[in-house]
Amino acid sequence: MKLLTPGPVDIPDAVREAMAVPSMLHYGPDWMQLYGDTLRMLKTVFGTENDVFMMAGPGTMALEAILGSAMEPGEMILIPENGFFALRLGQVAEGLGLRVLYLRTPWGQPADPVAVSKALDEHPEVKALLVVHHETSTTVLNPLEALARVGREHGVLVIVDAVSSLGGVPLPVDAWGIDGCVTVANKALETPPALALLSLSPRLWEAIERRQAPRGWYLDLKTWRWYAEHWGTWHPTPVTMPTSNVYALHRSLELLLAEGLEARYAAYRRAAYAVRRGLEALGFPPFVDEAWASPLTTAFKMRAGADADELQAFLRQRDVVISGGLQALHGVILRVGHIGLARHRSHIEAFLTGMEAYLQHKGLPFEPGAALQGLEGVD
Ligand SMILES: *Cc1c(COP(=O)(O)O)cnc(C)c1O
Repeated sequence: MKLLTPGPVDIPDAVREAMAVPSMLHYGPDWMQLYGDTLRMLKTVFGTENDVFMMAGPGTMALEAILGSAMEPGEMILIPENGFFALRLGQVAEGLGLRVLYLRTPWGQPADPVAVSKALDEHPEVKALLVVHHETSTTVLNPLEALARVGREHGVLVIVDAVSSLGGVPLPVDAWGIDGCVTVANKALETPPALALLSLSPRLWEAIERRQAPRGWYLDLKTWRWYAEHWGTWHPTPVTMPTSNVYALHRSLELLLAEGLEARYAAYRRAAYAVRRGLEALGFPPFVDEAWASPLTTAFKMRAGADADELQAFLRQRDVVISGGLQALHGVILRVGHIGLARHRSHIEAFLTGMEAYLQHKGLPFEPGAALQGLEGVD
């Protein structure tokens, strides 16, 4: 089976094998070495000197932890909404009793910093700006640097869902002034699911310290800070950690940093280019404009005579797995991920030859072999 999905992804053998490490303690000197090294590498990938934590659970949990720890019920947040994951953020916020102001852009279009600036001018009660960096449901890469600048200029906290972007595209947290940033191990960091990774700025800590309403224990980030400060030389987290996953993440980060962040970003761009050239040659139109298309996932529409569900199932029969469209985009688009092993030639070739086979099967015309012409330079 070959996964060309936006996550979870096929992971390198070295990372998969690291998961088989014997049981280890989540405290004590050996652990502190592994834990400390992993956090140091994460800070490099996040481009931050802020506090970074690893929490067992999905990315949504870490976003909920940040919102719940920093905001009081009834406070207002602004979400530029242009896809499924922005709506999900809103549901998390509403579940915590926050008031959500959505600034809507059609799905497939990027969030607009000018409109965000205007909305913040009109709503001085907004406390935080929540941005989805790579809106995986549409494959749009939102202009985060400009959005974060607008947020800072208005003095609001800037909190980012970078679940599907961090490690795959530039996202220098400190240079862009991002207060809370969340990603997971199982997307561009190419590790199995289980870990959410988050960074917290001093401004965000101030908000967390100010917050009055009770806020559970595990998801209260104050708890995490207390352990890091008071037990930090021996048992740095409040609870047991998924040690094998941390070990595998450590391996994956070593591979990423040895390759170099820029080189990895370029590998994803080459993979995206190869897939997009191939789709173009086969007559499948792109769903989003190249100007704001993320290099980590490609969404495409159907050509006449092709059916999205049927095509997805046809590829699945050939052990090639891609993703469908969500909600209103179901049946309209299909999505191909470029992260994990999907950035390599073997995955991309299997996908594009599967697309050719589908056209053949449907009796639709295409030029044999033309789809593979963008693969030069992809290893
Ligand atoms: C995958 C994804 C999520 C969900 O992550 P979980 O780990 O399942 O909570 C959230 N936001 C974006 C942008 C994603 O791509």
